[in-house]
Amino acid sequence: MKQAQQKEVKEKHSVEGGLSVEVLYNSTRGKGDPVRASEAILKGLSEDGGLFVPDHIPALDKSLREFSEMDYRQTAYEVMKLFLTDFTEDELKGCIDKAYDSKFDTEAVAPLTEAGGAYYLELFHGATIAFKDMALSILPHLMITAARKNHVKNEIVILTATSGDTGKAALAGFADVEGTRIVVFYPKDGVSPIQEKQMVTQKGANTMVVGIHGNFDDAQTGVKKLFADKELAREMNGKGFQFSSANSINIGRLVPQICYYVYAYAALLREGKISDGEAVNVVVPTGNFGNILAAFYAKNMGLPVGKLICASNDNRVLYDFFRTGTYDRNREFVLTSSPSMDILISSNLERLIYRIAGDDADRTGELMAALSGQGRYDITAEMKDGLEDFYGNYADEAETAAEIRRLYESCGYVLDTHTAVASAVYQKYVRETGDSRRAVIASTASPFKFTRSVMSAIDAKYADASVYGDFQLADELSRIANVAVPRAIEEIRTAPVVHDVQCDADKMKDTVKAFLKL
Ligand SMILES: *Cc1c(COP(=O)(O)O)cnc(C)c1O
Repeated sequence: MKQAQQKEVKEKHSVEGGLSVEVLYNSTRGKGDPVRASEAILKGLSEDGGLFVPDHIPALDKSLREFSEMDYRQTAYEVMKLFLTDFTEDELKGCIDKAYDSKFDTEAVAPLTEAGGAYYLELFHGATIAFKDMALSILPHLMITAARKNHVKNEIVILTATSGDTGKAALAGFADVEGTRIVVFYPKDGVSPIQEKQMVTQKGANTMVVGIHGNFDDAQTGVKKLFADKELAREMNGKGFQFSSANSINIGRLVPQICYYVYAYAALLREGKISDGEAVNVVVPTGNFGNILAAFYAKNMGLPVGKLICASNDNRVLYDFFRTGTYDRNREFVLTSSPSMDILISSNLERLIYRIAGDDADRTGELMAALSGQGRYDITAEMKDGLEDFYGNYADEAETAAEIRRLYESCGYVLDTHTAVASAVYQKYVRETGDSRRAVIASTASPFKFTRSVMSAIDAKYADASVYGDFQLADELSRIANVAVPRAIEEIRTAPVVHDVQCDADKMKDTVKAFLKL
Protein backbone atom coordinates (compact mmCIF):
# COMPACT_ATOMS: atom_id res chain seq x y z
CA MET A 1 0.00 0.00 0.00
CA LYS A 2 1.28 3.47 -0.85
CA GLN A 3 2.12 6.00 1.84
CA ALA A 4 -0.64 8.42 0.87
CA GLN A 5 -3.19 5.64 0.82
CA GLN A 6 -2.01 4.52 4.25
CA LYS A 7 -2.44 7.96 5.69
CA GLU A 8 -5.90 8.14 4.22
CA VAL A 9 -6.84 4.82 5.85
CA LYS A 10 -5.61 6.02 9.24
CA GLU A 11 -7.52 9.24 9.05
CA LYS A 12 -10.68 7.63 7.77
CA HIS A 13 -10.53 5.19 10.59
CA SER A 14 -9.89 7.70 13.30
CA VAL A 15 -12.94 9.66 12.17
CA GLU A 16 -15.22 6.62 12.05
CA GLY A 17 -13.81 4.65 14.93
CA GLY A 18 -13.04 7.31 17.49
CA LEU A 19 -9.80 6.75 19.38
CA SER A 20 -8.56 3.56 17.82
CA VAL A 21 -5.58 3.54 15.49
CA GLU A 22 -5.29 1.46 12.35
CA VAL A 23 -3.17 -1.67 12.80
CA LEU A 24 -1.15 -2.46 9.68
CA TYR A 25 0.77 -5.65 8.99
CA ASN A 26 4.45 -5.91 8.05
CA SER A 27 6.35 -8.92 6.81
CA THR A 28 8.89 -10.38 9.27
CA ARG A 29 11.38 -10.58 6.39
CA GLY A 30 10.73 -7.70 4.08
CA LYS A 31 10.80 -4.04 3.57
CA GLY A 32 7.62 -4.07 1.48
CA ASP A 33 4.75 -1.76 2.22
CA PRO A 34 2.54 -2.70 5.14
CA VAL A 35 -0.90 -4.14 4.34
CA ARG A 36 -4.27 -3.94 6.02
CA ALA A 37 -5.66 -6.83 8.07
CA SER A 38 -8.02 -7.99 5.32
CA GLU A 39 -5.18 -8.10 2.78
CA ALA A 40 -2.97 -10.04 5.20
CA ILE A 41 -5.76 -12.58 5.73
CA LEU A 42 -6.27 -13.02 1.98
CA LYS A 43 -2.56 -13.42 1.29
CA GLY A 44 -1.76 -15.67 4.26
CA LEU A 45 2.00 -15.41 3.73
CA SER A 46 3.91 -12.37 2.55
CA GLU A 47 5.42 -12.59 -0.95
CA ASP A 48 8.95 -12.51 0.50
CA GLY A 49 8.18 -15.67 2.50
CA GLY A 50 7.83 -13.78 5.77
CA LEU A 51 4.89 -13.80 8.17
CA PHE A 52 2.62 -10.82 8.68
CA VAL A 53 3.00 -9.11 12.06
CA PRO A 54 0.98 -6.22 13.49
CA ASP A 55 2.94 -2.94 13.44
CA HIS A 56 1.95 -2.46 17.08
CA ILE A 57 0.01 -4.45 19.65
CA PRO A 58 -3.14 -2.54 20.56
CA ALA A 59 -4.12 -2.17 24.22
CA LEU A 60 -7.39 -3.60 25.54
CA ASP A 61 -9.87 -0.73 25.63
CA LYS A 62 -12.34 -2.31 28.07
CA SER A 63 -11.63 -2.94 31.75
CA LEU A 64 -11.17 -6.48 33.07
CA ARG A 65 -14.40 -5.99 35.04
CA GLU A 66 -16.25 -5.16 31.84
CA PHE A 67 -14.83 -8.28 30.20
CA SER A 68 -15.99 -10.35 33.15
CA GLU A 69 -19.58 -9.51 32.19
CA MET A 70 -19.25 -10.50 28.54
CA ASP A 71 -20.07 -13.77 26.83
CA TYR A 72 -17.65 -15.39 24.38
CA ARG A 73 -18.94 -13.61 21.29
CA GLN A 74 -18.79 -10.18 22.92
CA THR A 75 -15.26 -10.86 24.16
CA ALA A 76 -14.19 -12.00 20.70
CA TYR A 77 -15.53 -8.80 19.18
CA GLU A 78 -13.81 -6.52 21.70
CA VAL A 79 -10.46 -8.23 21.14
CA MET A 80 -10.58 -8.81 17.39
CA LYS A 81 -11.80 -5.32 16.52
CA LEU A 82 -8.48 -4.00 17.85
CA PHE A 83 -6.45 -6.06 15.37
CA LEU A 84 -8.75 -6.28 12.35
CA THR A 85 -9.17 -2.54 12.10
CA ASP A 86 -10.34 -2.39 8.50
CA PHE A 87 -13.36 -4.61 9.24
CA THR A 88 -16.55 -2.75 10.13
CA GLU A 89 -18.43 -3.59 13.31
CA ASP A 90 -21.18 -5.32 11.29
CA GLU A 91 -18.70 -7.35 9.28
CA LEU A 92 -16.79 -8.56 12.31
CA LYS A 93 -19.86 -9.31 14.40
CA GLY A 94 -21.34 -11.19 11.43
CA CYS A 95 -18.23 -13.39 11.24
CA ILE A 96 -18.25 -14.01 14.99
CA ASP A 97 -21.94 -14.95 15.10
CA LYS A 98 -21.52 -17.44 12.27
CA ALA A 99 -18.45 -19.00 13.88
CA TYR A 100 -19.30 -19.35 17.56
CA ASP A 101 -22.82 -20.79 17.37
CA SER A 102 -24.38 -24.20 17.97
CA LYS A 103 -21.39 -25.88 16.34
CA PHE A 104 -20.02 -25.62 19.86
CA ASP A 105 -21.65 -28.00 22.31
CA THR A 106 -21.60 -25.52 25.20
CA GLU A 107 -22.92 -21.96 25.46
CA ALA A 108 -19.63 -20.97 27.13
CA VAL A 109 -17.73 -21.97 23.92
CA ALA A 110 -14.48 -22.29 25.90
CA PRO A 111 -15.34 -23.32 29.49
CA LEU A 112 -12.84 -23.39 32.37
CA THR A 113 -12.71 -26.50 34.55
CA GLU A 114 -10.85 -26.60 37.86
CA ALA A 115 -9.02 -29.86 38.54
CA GLY A 116 -6.12 -30.67 40.83
CA GLY A 117 -5.54 -27.00 41.68
CA ALA A 118 -5.25 -25.69 38.09
CA TYR A 119 -7.76 -24.33 35.59
CA TYR A 120 -8.14 -26.19 32.32
CA LEU A 121 -9.37 -23.96 29.50
CA GLU A 122 -11.33 -26.42 27.35
CA LEU A 123 -10.83 -25.38 23.75
CA PHE A 124 -12.29 -28.59 22.36
CA HIS A 125 -16.04 -28.03 22.27
CA GLY A 126 -16.24 -27.31 18.54
CA ALA A 127 -16.97 -29.44 15.48
CA THR A 128 -13.81 -31.58 15.54
CA ILE A 129 -13.22 -31.57 19.31
CA ALA A 130 -9.79 -29.94 19.14
CA PHE A 131 -8.59 -26.38 19.61
CA LYS A 132 -8.02 -25.65 15.92
CA ASP A 133 -11.81 -25.29 15.67
CA MET A 134 -11.52 -22.05 17.67
CA ALA A 135 -9.79 -20.35 14.74
CA LEU A 136 -10.91 -22.45 11.79
CA SER A 137 -14.58 -21.87 12.50
CA ILE A 138 -14.13 -18.13 11.98
CA LEU A 139 -11.37 -18.01 9.34
CA PRO A 140 -13.68 -18.86 6.38
CA HIS A 141 -15.95 -15.95 7.27
CA LEU A 142 -13.04 -13.55 7.77
CA MET A 143 -11.67 -14.68 4.43
CA ILE A 144 -14.80 -14.15 2.34
CA THR A 145 -15.39 -10.81 4.07
CA ALA A 146 -11.80 -9.86 3.26
CA ALA A 147 -12.32 -10.95 -0.36
CA ARG A 148 -15.42 -8.76 -0.64
CA LYS A 149 -13.63 -5.79 0.91
CA ASN A 150 -10.78 -6.11 -1.57
CA HIS A 151 -13.11 -6.49 -4.56
CA VAL A 152 -12.03 -10.06 -5.20
CA LYS A 153 -14.79 -11.64 -7.29
CA ASN A 154 -13.22 -15.09 -7.57
CA GLU A 155 -14.31 -18.04 -5.51
CA ILE A 156 -11.64 -18.85 -2.90
CA VAL A 157 -10.25 -22.37 -3.19
CA ILE A 158 -8.56 -23.58 -0.02
CA LEU A 159 -5.87 -26.16 -0.57
CA THR A 160 -4.59 -28.14 2.41
CA ALA A 161 -2.26 -31.06 3.02
CA THR A 162 -2.93 -32.74 6.33
CA SER A 163 -1.42 -35.38 8.56
CA GLY A 164 -4.86 -35.84 10.09
CA ASP A 165 -6.27 -33.15 12.34
CA THR A 166 -5.93 -29.82 10.56
CA GLY A 167 -7.62 -31.18 7.43
CA LYS A 168 -10.78 -32.12 9.27
CA ALA A 169 -10.92 -28.85 11.20
CA ALA A 170 -10.49 -26.88 7.95
CA LEU A 171 -13.16 -29.00 6.20
CA ALA A 172 -15.61 -28.44 9.04
CA GLY A 173 -14.91 -24.71 8.96
CA PHE A 174 -15.24 -24.20 5.21
CA ALA A 175 -18.04 -26.72 4.47
CA ASP A 176 -20.97 -24.95 2.82
CA VAL A 177 -19.45 -21.48 3.29
CA GLU A 178 -20.62 -19.63 0.19
CA GLY A 179 -17.87 -18.32 -2.08
CA THR A 180 -15.37 -20.96 -0.97
CA ARG A 181 -14.28 -24.47 -1.90
CA ILE A 182 -11.86 -26.69 -0.06
CA VAL A 183 -9.63 -29.54 -1.21
CA VAL A 184 -7.82 -31.63 1.40
CA PHE A 185 -5.06 -34.12 0.56
CA TYR A 186 -4.07 -36.71 3.13
CA PRO A 187 -1.66 -39.68 2.97
CA LYS A 188 -3.96 -42.64 2.25
CA ASP A 189 -2.17 -44.99 4.65
CA GLY A 190 -0.73 -42.37 6.98
CA VAL A 191 -3.63 -41.25 9.19
CA SER A 192 -5.53 -43.06 11.94
CA PRO A 193 -8.75 -44.93 11.02
CA ILE A 194 -10.80 -42.43 13.06
CA GLN A 195 -9.10 -39.46 11.38
CA GLU A 196 -9.76 -40.92 7.94
CA LYS A 197 -13.38 -41.66 8.79
CA GLN A 198 -13.81 -38.08 10.05
CA MET A 199 -12.60 -36.69 6.74
CA VAL A 200 -14.22 -39.03 4.22
CA THR A 201 -17.63 -38.54 5.82
CA GLN A 202 -17.40 -34.74 5.54
CA LYS A 203 -20.59 -33.18 4.17
CA GLY A 204 -20.74 -30.06 2.01
CA ALA A 205 -20.91 -29.79 -1.79
CA ASN A 206 -17.91 -27.44 -1.79
CA THR A 207 -15.60 -30.00 -0.15
CA MET A 208 -13.24 -32.55 -1.68
CA VAL A 209 -11.12 -35.06 0.22
CA VAL A 210 -8.40 -37.01 -1.56
CA GLY A 211 -6.23 -39.85 -0.26
CA ILE A 212 -2.87 -39.76 -2.00
CA HIS A 213 -0.53 -42.70 -2.53
CA GLY A 214 2.40 -41.32 -0.60
CA ASN A 215 3.27 -39.87 2.79
CA PHE A 216 2.49 -36.51 4.37
CA ASP A 217 5.60 -34.88 2.89
CA ASP A 218 4.47 -35.91 -0.61
CA ALA A 219 1.08 -34.32 0.03
CA GLN A 220 2.69 -31.17 1.43
CA THR A 221 5.17 -30.86 -1.44
CA GLY A 222 2.38 -31.39 -3.98
CA VAL A 223 0.27 -28.65 -2.43
CA LYS A 224 3.21 -26.22 -2.40
CA LYS A 225 3.76 -26.94 -6.12
CA LEU A 226 0.13 -26.20 -6.90
CA PHE A 227 0.33 -22.90 -5.01
CA ALA A 228 3.42 -21.93 -7.03
CA ASP A 229 1.99 -23.01 -10.42
CA LYS A 230 1.53 -19.74 -12.32
CA GLU A 231 -0.11 -21.35 -15.32
CA LEU A 232 -2.70 -23.05 -13.14
CA ALA A 233 -3.33 -19.75 -11.35
CA ARG A 234 -4.01 -18.05 -14.70
CA GLU A 235 -6.32 -20.82 -15.83
CA MET A 236 -8.20 -20.69 -12.54
CA ASN A 237 -8.51 -16.93 -12.63
CA GLY A 238 -10.08 -17.23 -16.08
CA LYS A 239 -12.77 -19.48 -14.61
CA GLY A 240 -13.30 -17.37 -11.48
CA PHE A 241 -11.19 -19.18 -8.90
CA GLN A 242 -8.11 -18.41 -6.81
CA PHE A 243 -6.19 -20.39 -4.21
CA SER A 244 -5.77 -19.45 -0.60
CA SER A 245 -4.39 -21.22 2.42
CA ALA A 246 -5.86 -21.94 5.84
CA ASN A 247 -2.60 -22.82 7.52
CA SER A 248 -1.67 -21.73 11.00
CA ILE A 249 0.53 -18.79 10.05
CA ASN A 250 -2.44 -16.79 8.71
CA ILE A 251 -3.18 -13.88 11.04
CA GLY A 252 -6.84 -14.81 10.55
CA ARG A 253 -6.02 -17.85 12.65
CA LEU A 254 -3.77 -16.12 15.16
CA VAL A 255 -6.03 -13.23 16.15
CA PRO A 256 -9.07 -15.38 17.11
CA GLN A 257 -6.81 -17.29 19.49
CA ILE A 258 -6.05 -14.19 21.56
CA CYS A 259 -9.71 -13.97 22.60
CA TYR A 260 -9.92 -17.06 24.74
CA TYR A 261 -7.10 -15.97 27.03
CA VAL A 262 -8.95 -12.72 27.76
CA TYR A 263 -12.14 -14.73 28.20
CA ALA A 264 -10.46 -17.19 30.61
CA TYR A 265 -9.03 -14.39 32.74
CA ALA A 266 -12.42 -12.69 32.85
CA ALA A 267 -14.08 -15.95 33.89
CA LEU A 268 -11.67 -16.33 36.84
CA LEU A 269 -12.42 -12.76 37.85
CA ARG A 270 -16.19 -13.27 37.54
CA GLU A 271 -16.03 -16.37 39.70
CA GLY A 272 -13.98 -14.60 42.37
CA LYS A 273 -10.98 -16.90 41.91
CA ILE A 274 -8.66 -13.93 41.38
CA SER A 275 -8.71 -10.23 42.19
CA ASP A 276 -8.80 -7.55 39.51
CA GLY A 277 -5.30 -7.21 38.03
CA GLU A 278 -3.83 -10.31 39.70
CA ALA A 279 -1.38 -12.04 37.35
CA VAL A 280 -2.20 -15.53 36.11
CA ASN A 281 0.27 -17.99 34.54
CA VAL A 282 -0.62 -19.59 31.22
CA VAL A 283 0.49 -23.07 30.16
CA VAL A 284 0.31 -24.11 26.49
CA PRO A 285 1.04 -27.47 24.83
CA THR A 286 3.03 -26.23 21.86
CA GLY A 287 3.77 -27.33 18.30
CA ASN A 288 3.77 -24.58 15.71
CA PHE A 289 3.90 -21.87 18.41
CA GLY A 290 0.61 -20.25 17.32
CA ASN A 291 -1.42 -20.76 20.46
CA ILE A 292 1.25 -19.59 22.90
CA LEU A 293 2.05 -16.59 20.70
CA ALA A 294 -1.60 -15.60 20.99
CA ALA A 295 -1.22 -15.71 24.80
CA PHE A 296 1.89 -13.52 24.48
CA TYR A 297 -0.07 -11.01 22.40
CA ALA A 298 -2.84 -11.05 25.04
CA LYS A 299 -0.24 -10.21 27.68
CA ASN A 300 1.08 -7.39 25.50
CA MET A 301 -2.44 -5.99 25.19
CA GLY A 302 -2.43 -5.54 28.96
CA LEU A 303 -3.95 -8.80 30.17
CA PRO A 304 -2.31 -9.61 33.53
CA VAL A 305 -0.38 -12.73 32.54
CA GLY A 306 2.66 -13.88 34.53
CA LYS A 307 4.75 -16.61 32.91
CA LEU A 308 4.02 -18.12 29.53
CA ILE A 309 4.85 -21.76 30.06
CA CYS A 310 5.72 -23.48 26.80
CA ALA A 311 5.25 -27.26 27.00
CA SER A 312 6.84 -29.66 24.52
CA ASN A 313 6.79 -33.43 24.12
CA ASP A 314 9.89 -35.49 23.23
CA ASN A 315 10.39 -33.22 20.21
CA ARG A 316 11.85 -30.69 22.64
CA VAL A 317 13.35 -28.24 20.18
CA LEU A 318 11.64 -25.27 21.89
CA TYR A 319 12.73 -26.33 25.37
CA ASP A 320 16.33 -26.40 24.14
CA PHE A 321 15.85 -23.05 22.44
CA PHE A 322 14.59 -21.29 25.57
CA ARG A 323 17.41 -22.84 27.61
CA THR A 324 20.33 -22.23 25.25
CA GLY A 325 19.33 -19.59 22.71
CA THR A 326 20.07 -22.06 19.90
CA TYR A 327 17.28 -23.33 17.69
CA ASP A 328 18.40 -26.63 16.18
CA ARG A 329 16.16 -28.87 14.14
CA ASN A 330 18.96 -31.33 13.36
CA ARG A 331 17.71 -34.15 15.50
CA GLU A 332 15.63 -37.26 15.31
CA PHE A 333 11.93 -36.72 14.70
CA VAL A 334 10.10 -38.60 17.46
CA LEU A 335 6.60 -40.01 16.96
CA THR A 336 4.70 -39.50 20.21
CA SER A 337 1.21 -39.96 21.60
CA SER A 338 0.69 -36.19 21.15
CA PRO A 339 1.09 -36.11 17.33
CA SER A 340 -0.10 -32.52 16.85
CA MET A 341 3.02 -31.42 18.73
CA ASP A 342 5.41 -33.61 16.74
CA ILE A 343 7.02 -30.67 15.01
CA LEU A 344 10.65 -29.63 14.54
CA ILE A 345 10.01 -26.30 12.80
CA SER A 346 7.66 -24.11 14.82
CA SER A 347 6.64 -21.65 12.09
CA ASN A 348 5.05 -19.03 14.30
CA LEU A 349 8.23 -18.65 16.36
CA GLU A 350 9.41 -16.38 13.53
CA ARG A 351 7.03 -13.71 14.81
CA LEU A 352 8.64 -13.80 18.25
CA ILE A 353 12.13 -13.78 16.74
CA TYR A 354 11.23 -10.65 14.78
CA ARG A 355 10.00 -9.06 17.97
CA ILE A 356 13.07 -9.86 20.09
CA ALA A 357 15.30 -8.74 17.21
CA GLY A 358 13.73 -5.29 17.66
CA ASP A 359 11.42 -5.62 14.62
CA ASP A 360 14.50 -6.10 12.44
CA ALA A 361 13.41 -7.81 9.18
CA ASP A 362 16.97 -8.22 7.87
CA ARG A 363 18.12 -9.99 11.01
CA THR A 364 15.01 -12.19 11.04
CA GLY A 365 15.52 -13.05 7.37
CA GLU A 366 19.13 -14.08 8.08
CA LEU A 367 18.14 -16.35 10.95
CA MET A 368 15.37 -17.97 8.91
CA ALA A 369 17.79 -18.49 6.01
CA ALA A 370 20.16 -20.21 8.45
CA LEU A 371 17.28 -22.40 9.61
CA SER A 372 16.43 -23.53 6.10
CA GLY A 373 20.11 -23.85 5.10
CA GLN A 374 21.87 -25.35 8.12
CA GLY A 375 18.80 -26.31 10.12
CA ARG A 376 19.83 -24.10 13.04
CA TYR A 377 20.48 -20.58 14.25
CA ASP A 378 21.72 -18.81 17.39
CA ILE A 379 20.22 -15.70 18.89
CA THR A 380 22.28 -13.03 20.66
CA ALA A 381 22.35 -12.58 24.44
CA GLU A 382 20.40 -9.39 23.99
CA MET A 383 17.67 -11.18 22.06
CA LYS A 384 17.59 -13.88 24.70
CA ASP A 385 16.77 -11.22 27.31
CA GLY A 386 13.57 -10.64 25.35
CA LEU A 387 12.41 -14.15 26.22
CA GLU A 388 12.06 -13.59 29.96
CA ASP A 389 8.26 -13.92 29.85
CA PHE A 390 8.66 -17.53 28.72
CA TYR A 391 9.52 -20.72 30.53
CA GLY A 392 10.09 -23.90 28.51
CA ASN A 393 10.10 -27.53 29.54
CA TYR A 394 8.99 -30.90 28.21
CA ALA A 395 7.33 -34.13 29.25
CA ASP A 396 8.33 -37.51 27.83
CA GLU A 397 5.89 -40.32 27.01
CA ALA A 398 6.01 -41.92 30.49
CA GLU A 399 5.52 -38.58 32.25
CA THR A 400 2.59 -37.74 29.98
CA ALA A 401 0.84 -41.04 30.66
CA ALA A 402 1.53 -40.71 34.40
CA GLU A 403 -0.05 -37.26 34.42
CA ILE A 404 -3.25 -38.58 32.78
CA ARG A 405 -3.43 -41.33 35.41
CA ARG A 406 -2.60 -38.99 38.32
CA LEU A 407 -5.34 -36.52 37.53
CA TYR A 408 -7.89 -39.22 36.78
CA GLU A 409 -7.17 -41.04 40.03
CA SER A 410 -7.09 -37.88 42.17
CA CYS A 411 -10.19 -36.16 40.81
CA GLY A 412 -11.79 -38.14 37.98
CA TYR A 413 -10.91 -35.59 35.29
CA VAL A 414 -9.52 -37.08 32.07
CA LEU A 415 -7.01 -35.15 29.96
CA ASP A 416 -6.05 -35.79 26.36
CA THR A 417 -2.38 -36.51 25.64
CA HIS A 418 -1.49 -32.97 24.46
CA THR A 419 -3.07 -31.33 27.48
CA ALA A 420 -1.35 -33.91 29.67
CA VAL A 421 2.05 -32.77 28.32
CA ALA A 422 1.15 -29.23 29.41
CA SER A 423 -0.13 -30.37 32.77
CA ALA A 424 3.02 -32.43 33.47
CA VAL A 425 5.24 -29.50 32.49
CA TYR A 426 3.24 -27.24 34.78
CA GLN A 427 3.93 -29.60 37.71
CA LYS A 428 7.65 -29.39 36.90
CA TYR A 429 7.45 -25.59 36.75
CA VAL A 430 5.82 -25.35 40.19
CA ARG A 431 8.32 -27.78 41.71
CA GLU A 432 11.23 -25.81 40.22
CA THR A 433 10.07 -22.28 41.02
CA GLY A 434 7.54 -22.51 43.85
CA ASP A 435 5.44 -20.00 41.87
CA SER A 436 1.94 -20.51 43.27
CA ARG A 437 0.03 -18.04 41.10
CA ARG A 438 -3.19 -19.30 39.55
CA ALA A 439 -2.60 -21.12 36.29
CA VAL A 440 -4.69 -21.55 33.16
CA ILE A 441 -3.73 -24.64 31.18
CA ALA A 442 -4.83 -24.64 27.54
CA SER A 443 -6.69 -27.91 27.00
CA THR A 444 -6.29 -28.43 23.28
CA ALA A 445 -8.13 -31.66 22.53
CA SER A 446 -10.89 -33.80 23.91
CA PRO A 447 -9.68 -37.11 25.37
CA PHE A 448 -12.19 -38.72 22.98
CA LYS A 449 -9.91 -37.76 20.11
CA PHE A 450 -6.97 -39.80 21.41
CA THR A 451 -8.87 -42.53 23.20
CA ARG A 452 -6.34 -45.34 22.79
CA SER A 453 -3.40 -43.48 24.36
CA VAL A 454 -5.56 -41.87 27.03
CA MET A 455 -7.27 -45.07 28.14
CA SER A 456 -4.04 -47.12 28.06
CA ALA A 457 -2.48 -44.53 30.36
CA ILE A 458 -5.29 -45.10 32.84
CA ASP A 459 -5.25 -48.90 32.55
CA ALA A 460 -2.90 -50.98 30.38
CA LYS A 461 -5.71 -53.41 29.50
CA TYR A 462 -7.16 -50.82 27.10
CA ALA A 463 -4.08 -51.03 24.89
CA ASP A 464 -5.39 -54.26 23.33
CA ALA A 465 -7.25 -53.23 20.17
CA SER A 466 -8.52 -56.75 19.58
CA VAL A 467 -10.49 -56.58 22.83
CA TYR A 468 -11.44 -52.88 22.78
CA GLY A 469 -12.35 -51.45 19.37
CA ASP A 470 -12.17 -47.69 18.84
CA PHE A 471 -15.84 -46.98 19.45
CA GLN A 472 -16.01 -49.40 22.35
CA LEU A 473 -13.14 -47.50 23.90
CA ALA A 474 -15.06 -44.24 23.52
CA ASP A 475 -18.01 -45.79 25.38
CA GLU A 476 -15.66 -47.01 28.07
CA LEU A 477 -14.14 -43.53 28.45
CA SER A 478 -17.61 -42.04 28.67
CA ARG A 479 -18.42 -44.44 31.49
CA ILE A 480 -15.29 -43.96 33.60
CA ALA A 481 -15.12 -40.15 33.13
CA ASN A 482 -18.87 -39.70 33.39
CA VAL A 483 -19.10 -37.47 30.30
CA ALA A 484 -21.22 -38.06 27.21
CA VAL A 485 -19.55 -39.23 24.01
CA PRO A 486 -19.16 -36.01 21.95
CA ARG A 487 -21.31 -35.47 18.88
CA ALA A 488 -18.21 -35.49 16.64
CA ILE A 489 -17.58 -39.14 17.59
CA GLU A 490 -21.24 -40.20 17.57
CA GLU A 491 -21.64 -38.85 14.05
CA ILE A 492 -18.86 -40.86 12.48
CA ARG A 493 -20.09 -44.12 13.97
CA THR A 494 -22.83 -44.23 11.36
CA ALA A 495 -22.04 -41.50 8.83
CA PRO A 496 -21.78 -42.69 5.20
CA VAL A 497 -18.53 -42.33 3.30
CA VAL A 498 -18.97 -39.55 0.72
CA HIS A 499 -15.38 -39.09 -0.48
CA ASP A 500 -13.56 -42.00 -2.08
CA VAL A 501 -11.14 -40.25 -4.44
CA GLN A 502 -7.54 -41.43 -4.43
CA CYS A 503 -4.64 -40.35 -6.60
CA ASP A 504 -0.89 -40.63 -7.09
CA ALA A 505 1.16 -37.78 -5.67
CA ASP A 506 2.04 -36.57 -9.17
CA LYS A 507 -1.62 -36.40 -10.22
CA MET A 508 -2.77 -33.85 -7.64
CA LYS A 509 -3.07 -31.08 -10.22
CA ASP A 510 -5.40 -33.16 -12.44
CA THR A 511 -7.53 -33.96 -9.42
CA VAL A 512 -7.94 -30.30 -8.51
CA LYS A 513 -8.72 -29.37 -12.11
CA ALA A 514 -11.37 -32.08 -12.31
CA PHE A 515 -12.98 -30.82 -9.10
CA LEU A 516 -13.09 -27.26 -10.44
CA LYS A 517 -14.16 -28.50 -13.91
CA LEU A 518 -11.27 -26.67 -15.61
C1 LIG B 1 -2.20 -27.94 16.82
C2 LIG B 1 -2.26 -28.52 18.20
C3 LIG B 1 -1.36 -28.13 19.21
C4 LIG B 1 -0.22 -27.19 18.96
O1 LIG B 1 -0.66 -25.87 18.79
P1 LIG B 1 0.31 -24.78 18.11
O2 LIG B 1 -0.52 -23.57 18.00
O3 LIG B 1 0.68 -25.36 16.77
O4 LIG B 1 1.48 -24.62 19.00
C5 LIG B 1 -1.52 -28.68 20.48
N1 LIG B 1 -2.50 -29.56 20.74
C6 LIG B 1 -3.38 -29.96 19.80
C7 LIG B 1 -4.42 -30.96 20.16
C8 LIG B 1 -3.31 -29.44 18.50
O5 LIG B 1 -4.18 -29.86 17.58
